[in-house]
Amino acid sequence: MGHYCRICDRMRANERFGGRGHRIHICRDCQRLPRSELDRIERLDELRGFLDQSNISERNRESLKLLAAHESPEVRTLAALVEDVARVHPRRRRRFSNLARNHPDLLKRMISILGDEWWDEVSVRFIGSNTDDFDEFYSLPQPDQGIDSE
Ligand SMILES: [Zn+2]
Repeated sequence: MGHYCRICDRMRANERFGGRGHRIHICRDCQRLPRSELDRIERLDELRGFLDQSNISERNRESLKLLAAHESPEVRTLAALVEDVARVHPRRRRRFSNLARNHPDLLKRMISILGDEWWDEVSVRFIGSNTDDFDEFYSLPQPDQGIDSE
């Protein structure tokens, strides 16, 4: 079969992992990356993970404040975004309908930072639950690319 590397985000052959690599889900190649690069990737994963939680807790928000001062600009940008989302709608439930209706600029910022692939995934889930607010969002000026309705 193989084994998943959470840094390069792909399945790799078992022999690509050392004993410890298996346990921490990092392949040999990625273990050779500079520590700052590993840290950047892991922090970005952690931040995206906050958005998948049912609620962004007060404790998470403490982490967000720390990450907003991270050495990587990419991490800082995402931390600031997640912090803004947490401030207006910490719970995942109905977050997108609330953002589409009341904070469309923030939703657009999410799409531009997290990318079209993320948005495709999220919007599929969203359409399954509540289409009204979503239609409303679609009628707003859109970021230039990536949203195919059919
Ligand atoms: Zn890897």
